[in-house]
Amino acid sequence: MKYTSTRNNKAFIDFESVSLKGLAADGGLYLPKDWNTENFKFSKKEVDFESIAFAIINNFVGDIISNTDLREIIRKSYTGFSSKKITPLKQLEDNHWLLELFHGPTLAFKDIALQLLGNLFNFFLEKNNNQINIIGATSGDTGSAALEAVKNNQNINIFILHPVNRVSDFQRRQMTTVKSSNVFNIGIKGTFDDCQYIVKKLFNDIDTKEKKFASINSINWTRIMAQITYYIYAVMQINLCESKKISFSVPTGNFGDAYAGYLAKSKLNASIEKIIIATNENDILDRFFKSGKYCKSNVKSTNTPSMDIQVASNFERLLYDIMNEDSKQVLKIMKNFESKNSLSIKKNTNKKILDSFKSFSINQKRTLEVIRNVYEKYNIILDPHTAVGFAASLEYLEKNEEHTVVSLATAHPAKFSNAVLKAIGKKPILPKKYKNIFELEERYEVLDNNYKLVKDFILKNIL
Ligand SMILES: *Cc1c(COP(=O)(O)O)cnc(C)c1O
Repeated sequence: MKYTSTRNNKAFIDFESVSLKGLAADGGLYLPKDWNTENFKFSKKEVDFESIAFAIINNFVGDIISNTDLREIIRKSYTGFSSKKITPLKQLEDNHWLLELFHGPTLAFKDIALQLLGNLFNFFLEKNNNQINIIGATSGDTGSAALEAVKNNQNINIFILHPVNRVSDFQRRQMTTVKSSNVFNIGIKGTFDDCQYIVKKLFNDIDTKEKKFASINSINWTRIMAQITYYIYAVMQINLCESKKISFSVPTGNFGDAYAGYLAKSKLNASIEKIIIATNENDILDRFFKSGKYCKSNVKSTNTPSMDIQVASNFERLLYDIMNEDSKQVLKIMKNFESKNSLSIKKNTNKKILDSFKSFSINQKRTLEVIRNVYEKYNIILDPHTAVGFAASLEYLEKNEEHTVVSLATAHPAKFSNAVLKAIGKKPILPKKYKNIFELEERYEVLDNNYKLVKDFILKNIL
């Protein structure tokens, strides 16, 4: 399959380059040139995660990986999950389900895509006898999931930037206690957006153009692709008996996960009614879906740090669709956004696309209240991000009782035990693997929010 950039759809590259590069040289994001939607016919016999993952991923990878190799890559990627179903569904009410995405090695949904990306990197590097340096920014969960996926790999050095004091202690320790010489953690005295800005700048810096840099942020197409799987899997399980239109409530920051849900609906023809965008008080996307104005404001620290993001990178991919795949127009709008920090879409532009979404912004008080209510009602402890999505589901269901909603559970509550403690007066039980994480020695560099400092540090340590 051929891929093209949102900012120039006249040039094409293959899946291998897309997955290794992450971000296009023109600053745009990669997308398939054609979707081959007619290929997506899922037989009801194939209701297991790996078969569905294979059908979807195989279509997007094309001929460059053989079926046997791809099946093995997928198998390896999901063996470390603590649930046989990989992403199990729990039914809470007739019309409300919980999709648990946190059974991977680092306890957040990021593992589903990053385990696969790690194995794909490894496959391509071994095949070509090559080495790369992964550079990534994290608001908390991407970092640990990426480190876990590539630690001890001799063909890879990995540099993860996180905002100091803006990730939970558990999240930081998950990264900084990884003992492997190919791992470099960098704490930046700034916000996640600052970290992401530095990473993007590094990828577009002339001095580093020749370096073998790869990205693991959700700007990497491979992550989006892998996340489509659980939407389809969930729809198929719920619809085994009767067909319903299902809406998914997605705790949203960088818009990768929600965008994958949108693709499941719009390109793979899954029976999905709405993608419900649930943001915390950093509500740039909520404001956009309500008003058509995408306007950056300051980042606020909340009890859902993985969503403390203002600039949602994957928004550009949706914009490309909204602009009828006119990459010149996207380039113009994004360049303008970079200088003005705002853009707007005229009312009724591609209403069908915008109508696929419904958005809510949930404040911190409500988030804690939902953790408490769900614990009392179902004896289930939600992590705060999941609670943001759950709160949005409840608001949505209030007006649409006859609909079926799936709330995405994006992290294990142990990752955010302070918020849980505040909500229900006790901490969630730590999974065995992490019992001693608060005693392990941490290793990380702290740098000022300064592009040159970070660049120098990275260039000194690359392969
Ligand atoms: C990353 C993350 C999100 C946000 O996902 P995006 O794809 O960035 O929108 C939500 N919840 C948790 C727990 C996360 O780690």
